[in-house]
This record gives sequence, structure tokens and C-alpha cells, in this order.
Amino acid sequence: MNITKSISLFQEAQKLIPGGVDSPVRAFCAVGGQPLFIERGEGPYLFDVDGNRYIDYVLSWGPLITGHAHPKVIEAIQQAACKGTSYGAPSPLEIELAKSIMDFMPNIEMIRFVNSGTEATMSALRLARAYTKRDKIIKFEGCYHGHADMLLVQAGSGVATLGLPDSPGVPADTVKDTLVANYNDLDSVKALFKKYPDQIAAVIVEPVAGNMGVVPPLPGFLEGLRAVTKREGTVLIFDEVMTGFRVHKGGAQALYNIQPDLTTLGKVIGGGLPVGAYGGKREIMQMVAPAGPMYQAGTLAGNPLAMSAGIAALDLIRDEKVWDEMEARGRQLDAGIESAAKKAGVAVTQTRVGTMRTIFFSETMPRDWNTVKCADKVRFGKFFQKMLENGVYLAPSQFEAGFISILHDEAVITATVDAAERAMKSL
Ligand SMILES: *Cc1c(COP(=O)(O)O)cnc(C)c1O
Repeated sequence: MNITKSISLFQEAQKLIPGGVDSPVRAFCAVGGQPLFIERGEGPYLFDVDGNRYIDYVLSWGPLITGHAHPKVIEAIQQAACKGTSYGAPSPLEIELAKSIMDFMPNIEMIRFVNSGTEATMSALRLARAYTKRDKIIKFEGCYHGHADMLLVQAGSGVATLGLPDSPGVPADTVKDTLVANYNDLDSVKALFKKYPDQIAAVIVEPVAGNMGVVPPLPGFLEGLRAVTKREGTVLIFDEVMTGFRVHKGGAQALYNIQPDLTTLGKVIGGGLPVGAYGGKREIMQMVAPAGPMYQAGTLAGNPLAMSAGIAALDLIRDEKVWDEMEARGRQLDAGIESAAKKAGVAVTQTRVGTMRTIFFSETMPRDWNTVKCADKVRFGKFFQKMLENGVYLAPSQFEAGFISILHDEAVITATVDAAERAMKSL
């Protein structure tokens, strides 16, 4: 595989941009080698600057459910661009995207658009704190909610309750109210409520964990969170930035039939442009300025290009048939990878919910961060490199979700399985 141009661009980029990338996950730190520089994307494919083509399972880390450069999305962006790129005043597009989202997620009664998932979770937590007049929040070990200070917390150990900052630059004071529980472990949540009665403003959770690799909720976990938060007067926030329009047409809240108080969105709703949103119960959302006292703002929020791309993308995934087809392709991939691994005598455990999936190099079905960690990172790294050589671009870490789009058709999946057979054999 010739990546000469990527190599020289990476050298140049490293002089100008820390680590040569604008988001750390893009560097190939966990798998070795170096990031590829991309020239263009088309449908299910990425093309690097050296002219290599890859079947893309990263899809910009989730947003591109309609594939790269879908003609309908591109047309919507072009038409919007001709009318100006930002107004700093409301436009009808915001109403249109809001209605479209609420169509998919009827539990959302009001919504506010922001520019990223990070902003969405940060704002939703501020709102939950304003609404409950409490300070503490609960998050789960292994769940990622963007890079806001208060959320950059690592549990340290299963018994640790008070968070410690995960990054230098995060003051200990900023995370003193961030409590950490174990994913899929309701007792760890109940223990925190017992320890901090009437102090917990919000529980924020990825209803299907995606940021430690895909870890589905065990039966009863989300139901339990709903019940305990309701009883304690705590706001339940489903962070559906990744799972929204990915695990099911209506997100995890539809798939598991649970109504969170607030939902955070991003990724798919921007159709590949930068967007986030938070929404939920009218009574809570009415507290957001200028309707209420909780301040939150954004110069480019509700941006007409992003709204247009989001509207076009959601239109393309409205039809139930699209979801049946993606489910069939997901199953085809599950079966193909399983058979490839079996033939090669490689132990893998696959997890998949809708269009989100992970191949764990482990015999243990992951249920939380501790079990996820059992996966063989070194083996994954080898598999990743072999897949790349065979024209398949996976997320460069064992602990990430992979995604498909509406353009990952039967032939694309078959080609992927062929590559996996070769890659598994070489392990
Ligand atoms: C990606 C992601 C975020 C952060 O979104 P950005 O747009 O990268 O800021 C937050 N929560 C979850 C669950 C995510 O997957």
C-alpha cells in the first residue's frame, strides 16, 4: 500500500497542529502506523491522497448515515449556501429540522440547536442543575459525553465514587460534583443516591454505550435508571449524540421504549455538518434563555447550512424500509465476521445495535468498562492494519463503535467479509 503523500502531509501537519490532527481519536496512536490524509469521500468509500480506496466504517465517527457526499445532502447544502451561510437571526430551517427530529422522537417537546455534541451535553447538564437547584451529576465509567471539564472524569476504580480529572487542566473543583457509576450496574447508581440524598441533579448516560466500543444496556438497566431518577426528582439525560438515528429510527428511547427527561443529539442530525442539540420536556426546556433564566447561546447555532444538511439527511432515513435494509446488512456483516473468525480460530465477541457495532477480540461479552478492557488491543491493532491493507477503514481503536450507512449494500459488505477472512487468517 503506497501512502507516500500521507506520510509527508503528516510530517508537515505535526509541525502545525498538535499531533497532526484536530481530534486525538484520528491519530493512529492505539494501532500504530500513521493517519491517512483523505482526499474525498463518496458513498461508502473514502479515498486517501495517494489514491487508495477504502470501505469506510468510521463515517466521520457516526454522522454520515447517508454515506459520503450523498447527492440529496450536497444539493441541500449548495442551495442553502447560495442564500448565505449564517444570519445571526432565526430562519424557517430551524423550525423544519426541529419538527423533523420531533417526528422521529416524539418525547422531545422543545429543542435548542447548538454546534456540537459537547455543547449539547454541557448545556443539558447546566439546565438540569438549574431546574433541580442541585449540583451533583452521575455519569458512567467508559461513557463519553464530549470534552467539557466536568465530564472529563475517569473512575479510577470500580469503587471510586468521587471523580478525579482525566486530563491536566481540569481543576479538581470542577469535577468535585461529578459522580461516577458502573455501566449496567444499577446498584452502583442506587448507592450514590443513598450517599448523596437530594443532591443529584442529573444522571447522564449513553443508552447504548458507544464510546468504549458498543456495549448494549442489559435488560432492566435503563428502566431502573428511569425509575430511580423519577423517584429522586433527578433529571434523566439520554446522551443520544451517537445512538440517535443510529440504533433505531427513533434512537435508543424508541428501541427500549423509555422516556428520558432530556435528550442530547449531534452527529446524524447535522448530515455531516457541525451540529448538536438538546431537548426534552417542555417544563424543563422553558427554563432556557430567553424563555427562562438558564443562559446558553451560540453565534452559529441553528446555522442554515447545517440545518439544511440535517433536514436532507433525516428525510433519507424516514422510510422504514431503509432501516430493514440496514438491519439486514448488519446481520450479513455479523455472520460474515463470525465465520471468518471461526475459520481462523480467532476469538471474537461482536456487539451490534442497529447500525452501531464493535468486534471485540475477546471471549467475554462486554457489559461495562472493566469487561471491555479484557479485549486484546494488540490483536485488534494487527487486524486493523490488515483490514486497511485490504481496503477497509475501521476506527483506529478497539474501544470504538463502527458504523454503516444506507449505501453499504450487499456487495460492499461481501467485500468487507472477504477482507476480514484474509485479515483473520493472518493473525
Ligand atoms: C461524539 C459524542 C459526543 C461529543 O460530540 P462532539 O460533536 O464531538 O462534541 C458526546 N456524546 C456522545 C455519546 C458522543 O458519541
